[in-house]
Amino acid sequence: MPIDATKPYDPNNVFARILRGEMPFSKVYEDEHALAFHDVNPQAPVHILVIPKGAYVSWDDFSARASVEELAGFVRAVGHVSRDMGLVPRGYRVLANIGRLAGQEVGHLHVHIFGGEPLGPMLARQ
Ligand code: AMP
Repeated sequence: MPIDATKPYDPNNVFARILRGEMPFSKVYEDEHALAFHDVNPQAPVHILVIPKGAYVSWDDFSARASVEELAGFVRAVGHVSRDMGLVPRGYRVLANIGRLAGQEVGHLHVHIFGGEPLGPMLARQ
C-alpha cells in the first residue's frame, strides 16, 4: 500500500533495514552518502535504486531537510551509478515516487534508475 509522505520516518522500513545490514541486497555502489542496489522486481533490463544514508521519507522530505553535503552527495551518486552502468550513451530514466498518488511503497527516499531498452512514454495512462 502506498505510504503517506507527510508521516514521520518509520525506521523499520525495508530500505532502513538494508542500510543496517539486516536484509540481503544486491549492491551496485556505496559511498558516504548513498547506497545503490538492484531492484528486487525489475521493470527494465537495468533497474537500480539509489538511496541516501540519512533517514528521509521521500524526495520532498530530503529536499527540505538534508544538508547541502547530503544533497550534493546523493545527486552525485545517482550520476555516478548511471555513468558506471554505461547508461548515458543510449539514455536512461530517473524517477522518484512521492506519496500516495505516485504509488510510493517504501518510506525511505529512493530514486529509480531505468535503462537498457526503450522505456516508452513517460506515463502509462489507463
Ligand atoms: P516505489 O513504488 O517507488 O516505492 O518503489 C519501491 C521499489 O522497491 C519497488 O520497485 C520494489 O520492487 C523495490 N523493493 C522493495 N523491496 C526491495 C528489496 N528488499 N530489495 C530491492 N528492491 C526492493
